[in-house]
Amino acid sequence: MSYDAIKADRQLCTGYRKGGQAAKCNGQLYRCTACATTGCRQTYVDNCSEQAFDVNWKCVKCGAINQKEGPLNFVNRIGA
Ligand SMILES: [Zn+2]
Ligand SMILES: [Zn+2]
Repeated sequence: MSYDAIKADRQLCTGYRKGGQAAKCNGQLYRCTACATTGCRQTYVDNCSEQAFDVNWKCVKCGAINQKEGPLNFVNRIGA
């Protein structure tokens, strides 16, 4: 399997980092089991347009702590 195929198979964050120049995030995706929000994890709140968790695994949408599922690319491989 080529590197490109592996990359395409992975589910990565499609959001954009905030601050400075807009850069594609490509972070690993996690899902909040409390509110089903899917997004990446960032050190600071509001770091990415698609962020779901902060550094303490707190959901930025509903505030639930430690309700993460993922990284989703690994979960998908197990379920496939
Ligand atoms: Zn992101
Ligand atoms: Zn949530």
